Amino acid sequence: MSQIHPLQTGRFYKVKNPRKSFLCALCSAPRSMKYSKNLSGKNYLQILIVSICLSWLLYPVMGVRAVLLIFPLWMIAEVINKLLYRKELPCPYCGFDATWYRRDVTIAQRKVKEFWRDNFPEIDNKEQQPLHSQKVADAIVNQQQQESLDVTQSQDQVI
Ligand SMILES: [Zn+2]
Repeated sequence: MSQIHPLQTGRFYKVKNPRKSFLCALCSAPRSMKYSKNLSGKNYLQILIVSICLSWLLYPVMGVRAVLLIFPLWMIAEVINKLLYRKELPCPYCGFDATWYRRDVTIAQRKVKEFWRDNFPEIDNKEQQPLHSQKVADAIVNQQQQESLDVTQSQDQVI
């Protein structure tokens, strides 16, 4: 059975309590994210409460050192948040990952291609389809060229 891509139906995924809403830089689909790069004030409060409970529980065993448990807990929370954020970041409609795009455009391009090949092989195989991965991948390159052009132009203006 062929999958219908959300971009063809105009129906997009909903995220509960999104912290950030924006449009995908590549396919312009509406996106919302639950996690952000850094922990929120609420997260810090949660870490504090959990570490107070843990310190209280482990005080008879560890003594005053139980208070230091906040640091490993904080680190674990940071790592989990980063992982969830990184997992949520790629666009669910086109596979565009802004972090990879910033780090290495060729990897970002490959990831978009892989996304189309793995999730929508029917669309990926049809040359005439407007959602073809090559076109999306080309769009990344064009966007990059446009950006470098903009940079050169702005540099010219500075000079
Ligand atoms: Zn997208």
